[in-house]
Amino acid sequence: MSDNVISYIEMCQRERTSLQQGMNFSLDGNHSVILMSVRPNAPYRDRLEESGTTLIYEGHDMPKGGACSNPKTVDQPIAYSSGNPTQNGKFMAAALTAKRGQTLPERVRVYEKIKPGIWSYNGIFHLVDAWVERDEFRQVCKFKLIAVESDEDFNKPVRIDAQRRRVIPTHVKLEVWARDEGKCSICNAPDELHFDHILPFAKGGTSLTAENVQLLCARHNLQKSDHIQ
Ligand SMILES: [Zn+2]
Repeated sequence: MSDNVISYIEMCQRERTSLQQGMNFSLDGNHSVILMSVRPNAPYRDRLEESGTTLIYEGHDMPKGGACSNPKTVDQPIAYSSGNPTQNGKFMAAALTAKRGQTLPERVRVYEKIKPGIWSYNGIFHLVDAWVERDEFRQVCKFKLIAVESDEDFNKPVRIDAQRRRVIPTHVKLEVWARDEGKCSICNAPDELHFDHILPFAKGGTSLTAENVQLLCARHNLQKSDHIQ
Protein backbone atom coordinates (compact mmCIF):
# COMPACT_ATOMS: atom_id res chain seq x y z
CA MET A 1 0.00 0.00 0.00
CA SER A 2 1.52 3.32 -0.99
CA ASP A 3 0.67 6.98 -0.43
CA ASN A 4 0.27 6.40 3.29
CA VAL A 5 1.41 8.82 5.96
CA ILE A 6 4.17 7.40 8.15
CA SER A 7 6.34 8.70 10.98
CA TYR A 8 10.10 8.53 10.92
CA ILE A 9 10.06 6.04 13.80
CA GLU A 10 7.62 3.77 11.92
CA MET A 11 9.85 3.92 8.84
CA CYS A 12 12.90 2.87 10.86
CA GLN A 13 10.95 0.04 12.52
CA ARG A 14 9.67 -1.17 9.15
CA GLU A 15 13.14 -1.12 7.60
CA ARG A 16 14.74 -2.49 10.81
CA THR A 17 17.50 0.11 10.70
CA SER A 18 17.97 3.74 11.68
CA LEU A 19 17.55 5.62 8.41
CA GLN A 20 20.23 8.20 9.07
CA GLN A 21 21.13 8.76 5.43
CA GLY A 22 18.98 9.38 2.38
CA MET A 23 20.37 6.47 0.35
CA ASN A 24 20.36 2.93 1.74
CA PHE A 25 21.42 0.30 -0.78
CA SER A 26 20.29 -3.32 -0.49
CA LEU A 27 18.75 -3.58 2.98
CA ASP A 28 18.24 -7.24 3.88
CA GLY A 29 19.75 -7.99 0.46
CA ASN A 30 16.39 -7.63 -1.28
CA HIS A 31 15.49 -3.95 -1.57
CA SER A 32 16.88 -0.46 -1.13
CA VAL A 33 15.45 2.61 0.56
CA ILE A 34 15.57 6.23 -0.57
CA LEU A 35 14.42 9.27 1.37
CA MET A 36 13.35 12.13 -0.87
CA SER A 37 12.06 15.66 -0.57
CA VAL A 38 10.97 18.25 -3.10
CA ARG A 39 10.35 20.94 -0.48
CA PRO A 40 11.80 24.34 -1.49
CA ASN A 41 14.47 24.24 1.24
CA ALA A 42 15.39 20.58 0.69
CA PRO A 43 19.17 19.96 0.47
CA TYR A 44 18.90 18.00 -2.79
CA ARG A 45 17.09 18.60 -6.07
CA ASP A 46 14.82 15.58 -6.28
CA ARG A 47 11.93 15.81 -8.72
CA LEU A 48 8.94 13.84 -9.97
CA GLU A 49 8.48 13.80 -13.73
CA GLU A 50 6.23 12.31 -16.42
CA SER A 51 2.99 12.93 -14.47
CA GLY A 52 4.46 11.52 -11.27
CA THR A 53 5.52 8.14 -12.70
CA THR A 54 9.26 8.89 -12.64
CA LEU A 55 11.58 10.11 -9.90
CA ILE A 56 14.85 11.82 -10.73
CA TYR A 57 16.86 11.55 -7.52
CA GLU A 58 20.04 13.45 -6.77
CA GLY A 59 22.99 11.58 -5.32
CA HIS A 60 24.68 12.44 -2.05
CA ASP A 61 27.33 15.03 -1.37
CA MET A 62 30.73 14.55 0.19
CA PRO A 63 30.27 14.74 3.97
CA LYS A 64 31.16 18.13 5.41
CA GLY A 65 34.35 18.32 7.42
CA GLY A 66 38.08 17.85 6.99
CA ALA A 67 39.13 19.21 3.61
CA CYS A 68 35.51 19.70 2.55
CA SER A 69 34.08 22.94 3.94
CA ASN A 70 31.31 23.35 1.35
CA PRO A 71 30.02 20.02 -0.03
CA LYS A 72 27.97 21.84 -2.69
CA THR A 73 31.19 22.80 -4.50
CA VAL A 74 32.74 19.31 -4.50
CA ASP A 75 32.04 16.47 -6.97
CA GLN A 76 29.69 13.92 -5.46
CA PRO A 77 31.80 10.89 -4.48
CA ILE A 78 31.34 7.52 -6.22
CA ALA A 79 34.03 5.74 -4.18
CA TYR A 80 35.88 6.21 -0.91
CA SER A 81 39.66 6.64 -0.95
CA SER A 82 39.83 2.90 -0.12
CA GLY A 83 38.18 2.23 -3.50
CA ASN A 84 34.99 0.87 -1.94
CA PRO A 85 31.82 2.32 -3.46
CA THR A 86 29.83 4.98 -1.64
CA GLN A 87 26.03 4.79 -1.66
CA ASN A 88 26.23 6.80 -4.91
CA GLY A 89 28.57 4.17 -6.34
CA LYS A 90 26.39 1.24 -5.26
CA PHE A 91 23.19 2.72 -6.71
CA MET A 92 25.09 3.76 -9.86
CA ALA A 93 26.45 0.25 -10.49
CA ALA A 94 23.03 -1.35 -9.94
CA ALA A 95 21.29 1.16 -12.22
CA LEU A 96 23.78 0.67 -15.04
CA THR A 97 23.76 -3.14 -14.98
CA ALA A 98 19.93 -3.06 -14.99
CA LYS A 99 19.96 -0.59 -17.87
CA ARG A 100 22.20 -2.93 -19.87
CA GLY A 101 19.87 -5.83 -19.06
CA GLN A 102 22.55 -7.70 -17.10
CA THR A 103 20.51 -7.66 -13.88
CA LEU A 104 16.90 -7.04 -12.89
CA PRO A 105 16.25 -3.52 -11.60
CA GLU A 106 16.81 -2.92 -7.88
CA ARG A 107 13.51 -2.46 -6.00
CA VAL A 108 13.54 0.77 -4.03
CA ARG A 109 11.09 1.89 -1.35
CA VAL A 110 10.75 5.66 -1.50
CA TYR A 111 9.77 7.74 1.52
CA GLU A 112 9.08 11.44 1.05
CA LYS A 113 9.32 14.13 3.68
CA ILE A 114 6.32 16.36 3.02
CA LYS A 115 6.49 18.47 6.20
CA PRO A 116 8.63 18.42 9.35
CA GLY A 117 7.72 15.17 11.11
CA ILE A 118 5.33 14.04 8.33
CA TRP A 119 6.46 11.49 5.77
CA SER A 120 4.63 9.75 2.95
CA TYR A 121 5.47 6.27 1.73
CA ASN A 122 5.59 6.73 -2.04
CA GLY A 123 5.70 3.01 -2.82
CA ILE A 124 8.00 0.76 -4.82
CA PHE A 125 10.17 2.08 -7.62
CA HIS A 126 12.52 0.30 -10.02
CA LEU A 127 16.00 1.80 -10.38
CA VAL A 128 16.48 1.90 -14.17
CA ASP A 129 19.17 4.46 -15.02
CA ALA A 130 21.87 6.71 -13.61
CA TRP A 131 24.30 9.30 -14.92
CA VAL A 132 26.63 12.08 -13.83
CA GLU A 133 25.95 15.68 -14.85
CA ARG A 134 27.47 19.07 -14.10
CA ASP A 135 25.65 21.75 -12.12
CA GLU A 136 27.08 25.26 -11.64
CA PHE A 137 29.99 24.05 -9.56
CA ARG A 138 30.62 20.33 -9.73
CA GLN A 139 29.59 16.84 -10.85
CA VAL A 140 26.32 15.48 -9.51
CA CYS A 141 24.94 11.92 -9.64
CA LYS A 142 21.39 11.47 -10.93
CA PHE A 143 19.26 8.36 -10.58
CA LYS A 144 16.12 7.55 -12.54
CA LEU A 145 13.46 5.45 -10.82
CA ILE A 146 10.03 4.50 -12.13
CA ALA A 147 7.01 3.99 -9.87
CA VAL A 148 5.44 0.53 -10.27
CA GLU A 149 2.28 -1.22 -9.05
CA SER A 150 2.35 -4.12 -6.60
CA ASP A 151 5.94 -5.36 -6.64
CA GLU A 152 6.15 -5.42 -2.82
CA ASP A 153 6.77 -9.14 -2.26
CA PHE A 154 10.53 -9.34 -1.86
CA ASN A 155 10.41 -13.15 -1.80
CA LYS A 156 9.39 -13.07 -5.45
CA PRO A 157 11.59 -11.99 -8.35
CA VAL A 158 11.38 -8.38 -9.55
CA ARG A 159 8.44 -7.94 -11.90
CA ILE A 160 10.07 -6.29 -14.89
CA ASP A 161 6.62 -5.98 -16.55
CA ALA A 162 4.99 -4.33 -13.50
CA GLN A 163 2.47 -1.67 -14.40
CA ARG A 164 3.56 1.95 -14.04
CA ARG A 165 2.07 3.92 -11.20
CA ARG A 166 1.57 7.62 -10.47
CA VAL A 167 2.68 9.25 -7.27
CA ILE A 168 0.43 11.99 -5.89
CA PRO A 169 2.39 15.24 -6.32
CA THR A 170 3.78 16.81 -3.16
CA HIS A 171 1.83 20.08 -3.50
CA VAL A 172 -1.42 18.06 -3.71
CA LYS A 173 -0.49 16.06 -0.60
CA LEU A 174 0.27 19.27 1.30
CA GLU A 175 -3.02 20.88 0.22
CA VAL A 176 -5.01 17.78 1.23
CA TRP A 177 -3.16 17.51 4.56
CA ALA A 178 -4.01 21.14 5.40
CA ARG A 179 -7.63 20.92 4.23
CA ASP A 180 -8.35 17.65 6.11
CA GLU A 181 -6.35 18.90 9.12
CA GLY A 182 -4.24 15.73 9.27
CA LYS A 183 -7.26 13.51 10.07
CA CYS A 184 -9.46 10.92 8.39
CA SER A 185 -12.15 12.81 6.49
CA ILE A 186 -14.81 10.32 7.67
CA CYS A 187 -14.03 9.64 11.35
CA ASN A 188 -11.32 12.22 12.20
CA ALA A 189 -8.85 9.50 13.28
CA PRO A 190 -5.37 11.09 13.37
CA ASP A 191 -3.23 8.01 12.64
CA GLU A 192 -2.59 5.33 9.99
CA LEU A 193 -3.68 7.79 7.31
CA HIS A 194 -3.67 7.24 3.55
CA PHE A 195 -3.99 9.65 0.68
CA ASP A 196 -7.05 8.22 -1.08
CA HIS A 197 -8.30 8.95 -4.60
CA ILE A 198 -11.99 9.81 -4.20
CA LEU A 199 -12.67 8.65 -7.77
CA PRO A 200 -10.11 5.85 -8.23
CA PHE A 201 -7.29 6.40 -10.69
CA ALA A 202 -8.35 3.24 -12.56
CA LYS A 203 -11.78 4.80 -13.13
CA GLY A 204 -10.39 8.02 -14.56
CA GLY A 205 -9.86 9.91 -11.30
CA THR A 206 -6.95 12.31 -11.22
CA SER A 207 -4.16 12.56 -8.66
CA LEU A 208 -3.23 16.02 -9.86
CA THR A 209 -5.77 18.08 -7.92
CA ALA A 210 -6.62 18.10 -4.21
CA GLU A 211 -10.36 17.94 -5.04
CA ASN A 212 -9.99 14.23 -5.91
CA VAL A 213 -7.75 13.27 -2.97
CA GLN A 214 -8.71 12.88 0.70
CA LEU A 215 -7.16 11.54 3.89
CA LEU A 216 -8.65 8.24 5.11
CA CYS A 217 -7.66 6.14 8.12
CA ALA A 218 -6.60 2.51 7.51
CA ARG A 219 -10.07 1.21 8.40
CA HIS A 220 -11.98 3.51 6.06
CA ASN A 221 -9.42 3.09 3.31
CA LEU A 222 -9.81 -0.70 3.55
CA GLN A 223 -13.61 -0.47 3.62
CA LYS A 224 -13.54 1.62 0.51
CA SER A 225 -11.25 -0.73 -1.44
CA ASP A 226 -13.39 -3.74 -0.38
CA HIS A 227 -16.43 -1.88 -1.64
CA ILE A 228 -14.82 -1.15 -5.01
CA GLN A 229 -13.66 -4.75 -5.60
ZN1 LIG B 1 -11.65 6.84 9.38
